[in-house]
Amino acid sequence: MPDLIHVPKPSPRSLRRRLTALAVALALVVPTAAPPAWAQNQLPALGDPSGEDFSIATEHKLGDEIMREIRADPDYLDDPVLLEYLQSLWQPLVAQARIRGNLSADIDQRLAWEPFLVRDKEVNAFALPGGYVGVNLGLIAMTSTRDELASVLAHEMSHITQRHIARSIGNSRRQSLLSLAAMLAGLVVASKAGSSSVDAAQAAVVGTQALAAQGQLNFSRDMEREADRVGWQVMTGAGFASGGMASMFEKMEQSSRLNDFGGYPYLRSHPLTSERIGEARARMGTVTPATSQVSVLEHTAAQARARVLMDSRFDALKRWQALDGDRVATSVSDKLLSAYSSGLASTLLRDWARADASIALALGLVRGSPRSDARAERAVVLLQVQSLIARGDVTRAVAALEPYQADRSRPVMLLETQATLASTAALAPDNAQLKQRADQLQTWVATQPRDALAWTALGQVQERLGQPLRAVRADAESRVALGDLGGAADRLRGGQRRARSGGGVDFIDVSVIDARLRDVELQLKQQKADEKALR
Ligand SMILES: [Zn+2]
Repeated sequence: MPDLIHVPKPSPRSLRRRLTALAVALALVVPTAAPPAWAQNQLPALGDPSGEDFSIATEHKLGDEIMREIRADPDYLDDPVLLEYLQSLWQPLVAQARIRGNLSADIDQRLAWEPFLVRDKEVNAFALPGGYVGVNLGLIAMTSTRDELASVLAHEMSHITQRHIARSIGNSRRQSLLSLAAMLAGLVVASKAGSSSVDAAQAAVVGTQALAAQGQLNFSRDMEREADRVGWQVMTGAGFASGGMASMFEKMEQSSRLNDFGGYPYLRSHPLTSERIGEARARMGTVTPATSQVSVLEHTAAQARARVLMDSRFDALKRWQALDGDRVATSVSDKLLSAYSSGLASTLLRDWARADASIALALGLVRGSPRSDARAERAVVLLQVQSLIARGDVTRAVAALEPYQADRSRPVMLLETQATLASTAALAPDNAQLKQRADQLQTWVATQPRDALAWTALGQVQERLGQPLRAVRADAESRVALGDLGGAADRLRGGQRRARSGGGVDFIDVSVIDARLRDVELQLKQQKADEKALR
């Protein structure tokens, strides 16, 4: 799909730009001239606490600080369907790293181990301090199997388990850590103000570090080889096909031959040496994966979803929609790729007739020959439900979701809530379905308190149930989850005012708001103290 790889100019406030600035800041403190001490005496012991300056606690704080910025960005994408798919590949990798003893108890508990989606067409994935891995939609769109995608995730995860970021930074001087903190503080200001200081920061760095021009945090060559080696062990151990890494490299190699670096920042940070490719190929075939349970077409659906969502401009959507005229595709997966893409694009364009036709075609493909594919079928049904809710056809949406109610998954729960909210507009606040949704969401956020979308949905349901103070609290919690403590405090104060002015408020609801406000104000204080300390 070479036609996918266009590089739009980053808008001044795009997430990519922020990440570039971050990478520049990190590059400043990553020594590149001389190999770090550990590299001279072979690889260090796992979990080697190199560099007192960069403890796990510091990395954790730094990571949270960076993520608070990222979560506020419009290109940070919480698409429940795609995120669930990403997690379905990520979690087995983390579990395998744990089994293999790559995660010390300390980093297991204190780092986030959280993948997230970035709405960006560039083919890229990157590890951040604190255990976060960003995955561009462009990467998902270009991988044609789950194994290819898993190979990149395993590689990035291994940068974290092997403490590559911390080692790089920890090996630099204390001075550098301070400048990193200063750069990050500057980054926060720059992204809020709109940006010229980001340019200034970049300009300042370009002269001193060739790295900076690449706009990516670079690890040493040894670190890259270690991430390949450990990542490969982890991915095959987790049951992914060993050829995934080699075929990913081959794809990248092809595009590097075409000099298509523009859309592949991953290639710039991960130069493909013949050594790397050779090693990946040598490792191929040494492990036979158990592929019998694997849904190939589920990946195809995710790939289609990623490529449509990565660019929601009208012209791009029209191009994907036009794939319903695709007569070239011959394999089932190519046909599904076209049908799903067209069905989603038509839904976003609100062209219901064409959406229905494409989705019906996609359903036929996953239910038909050579055998039906339950995971892929679920993926297509969720698209159908999204499409039906978007046009207000709630009855059909609920009926389509029926078989999946028992799976208690996040996308199903959120779609059910959307359907309920769309259907009970005229109903009384004692509606049983609304109450059921509220209970369900309440149970969910009790164990997933950082799920901003679930809190938002809960707030909407509670508003409809005539529980304004609970709705305010849920709304505030969604702000907390996104890292916006100030916004959360504002909402909670608004709730207090509302409680004082209006009659008939529940005394328990009021005390919950009071308690949460005290807590959020405390966290705000702590956050300011942390920022000061980093400076
Ligand atoms: Zn790497």
